[in-house]
Amino acid sequence: MGRNGMRVLVIGGGVGGLCLAQGLRGAGVDVTVFERDGGPDERRQGYRLRISPEGEASLRACLPPPLRELLVATAHRRGENGLDAYDEHLAPQWAPSFDDPRGERPDKVDALDRDVLRRILLAGLEPVVRYGRTFTRCERLPDGGVRACFADGSSARGDVLVAADGANSRVRAQLLPDRLPADLGVRTVFSRITRADAVRAGLPEPLQDRFSYVIGSDGSHLGLMPMSFRDGVRETAGRLYPGLRLPETGDYYMAVLNVHRADLGMPDAEFFALDGPGLCRFAAARTAGWHPGLRGVFRHARPELTFGVALRAHTPVVPWETGPVVPLGDAVHTMPPSGGVGANTAVRDAAALTEALTAVDRGERGLADAVTAYQKAMVEYATEGVEMSLRIARWSIKKVNAGG
Ligand SMILES: Cc1cc2nc3c(=O)[nH]c(=O)nc-3n(C[C@H](O)[C@H](O)[C@H](O)COP(=O)(O)OP(=O)(O)OC[C@H]3O[C@@H](n4cnc5c(N)ncnc54)[C@H](O)[C@@H]3O)c2cc1C
Repeated sequence: MGRNGMRVLVIGGGVGGLCLAQGLRGAGVDVTVFERDGGPDERRQGYRLRISPEGEASLRACLPPPLRELLVATAHRRGENGLDAYDEHLAPQWAPSFDDPRGERPDKVDALDRDVLRRILLAGLEPVVRYGRTFTRCERLPDGGVRACFADGSSARGDVLVAADGANSRVRAQLLPDRLPADLGVRTVFSRITRADAVRAGLPEPLQDRFSYVIGSDGSHLGLMPMSFRDGVRETAGRLYPGLRLPETGDYYMAVLNVHRADLGMPDAEFFALDGPGLCRFAAARTAGWHPGLRGVFRHARPELTFGVALRAHTPVVPWETGPVVPLGDAVHTMPPSGGVGANTAVRDAAALTEALTAVDRGERGLADAVTAYQKAMVEYATEGVEMSLRIARWSIKKVNAGG
């Protein structure tokens, strides 16, 4: 129990929900996370996440010191300050640079492997994460609290319920059924290629250590992002946080192929029915006429880590009603990954909500007041994140067809 006996139920053990649980536990607030996956190994989520200055600060704020150190030690090894854009024959187009107030700080965390991040966020939370609990609905209780019901027939009572159940949030579906994120019309193949395979297949040297973007003449666009670890992640965890098993992973590239629905050459349903090998074949065919150094990318992609998604966005971002049900992350502000800020915004929510709910637990603030202030700030920075992501999505795919 927290100091005031406040009990927080978090629906969804993704990036945002787990970060919040770390923050609240660190502050001594009673928190339980309900996750529909059967366990931490049920899904591979091993793609690369760009981490912004705000995202890094929020992760640091929520994690205890040993996990902060582990975050730094398992982050991307090279600093990133821009991208190089090419046409499909690798003729350079332009090379915008990004401002990063962190400069070349040696302990900067500017990209993480999502599987590694998830394991770090789960460390120490074993007693409070309940797996195999699919949220179905919630109800307000006469005492001001809330009851969450799960598909297995169980339920839990809390003073606050945090909807951290992602872009297809069931909590949002119950409370705000019309607030679905809009489909932007862009279909994306996300994939992963082992670095050594890509280099062996002839990935040109200038693309090996940079964020590269290739603009195809047929409307396909390829983003290629290196993920290079400082040391072996398993050994690093063994040294800094004995007992924590991190996934075995070597250096890789995350490849992102964007195609507008109208240019897919197949109906949407057919695209989404493609499995990993099918998606790799689709992407290899789309890039078959490109520079020889790029053709190997999807031929060597790992099918089990290849998946297709529809880019979606909540626009505008609107606050939920101020009550015991509080939104966090993609549930309230889905945005396309083009801006690389969705997870950063979710952990920013987690840090802000940790502060707000800790103050409530300590009796320093009323719940309604704390939740209103949290949502006001969240809507402001999340709107910036959505707008920035949409600008980049529109820049890369001119036909992006929603969001105003
Ligand atoms: C390929 C890809 C690349 C990306 N790259 C970046 C990047 O570089 N930088 C960045 O900032 N963002 C990136 N994003 C976006 C980022 O992944 C999301 O914004 C982020 O994961 C949102 O966190 P969340 O906690 O809100 O939701 P999620 O991480 O999606 O977590 C939701 C959790 O809720 C669980 N859940 C769902 N329904 C239920 C239910 N009914 N009951 C119980 N549990 C449930 C799910 O199993 C899941 O664990 C990327 C996204 C993709 C797909």
